[in-house]
Amino acid sequence: MTEKIGLIGLGIMGKPMGKNLLQAGFPLTVWNRTASRMDELVALGAKGAASPQEVAEQSDIIITMVSDSPDVQAVVLGDGGVIHGVRAGSVVVDMSTISPQVTREIAAALKEKNVAMLDAPVSGGEKGAIEGTLSIMVGGDAAVLERVRPVFDAMGKRIVHIGGNSMGQVCKLANQIAVVLNNLAMSEALVFAAKSGADVSKVLEAIQAGAAGSWALTNYAPKILRRDFSPGFMVSLQQKDLNLVMEASREMNLALPGTALTYELQKALQAWDLEGEGNFALVKVIESMAGVQVAA
Ligand code: NAP
Repeated sequence: MTEKIGLIGLGIMGKPMGKNLLQAGFPLTVWNRTASRMDELVALGAKGAASPQEVAEQSDIIITMVSDSPDVQAVVLGDGGVIHGVRAGSVVVDMSTISPQVTREIAAALKEKNVAMLDAPVSGGEKGAIEGTLSIMVGGDAAVLERVRPVFDAMGKRIVHIGGNSMGQVCKLANQIAVVLNNLAMSEALVFAAKSGADVSKVLEAIQAGAAGSWALTNYAPKILRRDFSPGFMVSLQQKDLNLVMEASREMNLALPGTALTYELQKALQAWDLEGEGNFALVKVIESMAGVQVAA
């Protein structure tokens, strides 16, 4: 029997994910805080609900794709939240990027109602959400993942079971640490070359394929040379995720000096009102300290 899917949060990511679920033939009930954002999916055949609770009442697998930890807490545990409508035996799947600790708390609250939870944050951005090629990092019970896998298959390409509840979020945050430090490495290398008077596009051509090569150098450096800072992944979301990393590492007395430094450097971008630019705008902070601009 086809599972009935609920989807809460139709933002940049949630809406195209919903389209892919409809495309794959799943019966879909949706809710979004700003109700007008439901219109497009309703026109495509989804049912619009009046609250997250109503979504839960009508669904077997309930997906949340909202912004941050307090937002997932609100739509799952708050007034009119999923927990008030969900039936025993259903599954809640949070695909937002949020705190591992809060994830464990939500999973425990749902377990009391005999409802399983998966944390399943994604990478691949808006493009991956539209094309159905997201990478999905899953925390929770392996058998529950197998039940939900056909739903994930409609939205993503690489689905990896990392471990128990919250390990998907841990994986996503580890991903973010590597992303920002790659961005910092790229920024310093490009600014050094520019300040030294080198032709930065030649430098890029030479180093891309060697030991310094990275996804950032391949995908972001050419945009920096064109001074195109359109996102991609916005500075505001990057800072939100690094904040989650810092929170989790504080709880473990874990020192992450490079990540902490990058978080502080990116505050300059926030002070300059550049939160809406791509995360590789980090180069602008290094440029400002050098008094030089990286350009082709
Ligand atoms: P977005 O476009 O800002 O959408 C956020 C959605 O959450 C909107 O539907 C918003 O409703 C809803 N929302 C936020 N707070 C809420 C609350 N307290 N109660 C009810 N609804 C609430 O964000 P997004 O880019 O889709 O990102 C969603 C999640 O995916 C985030 O955790 C993000 O870190 C993660 N993610 C994003 C990307 C990316 O490239 N964008 C990539 C990977 C992961 P309204 O419409 O009413 O505002």
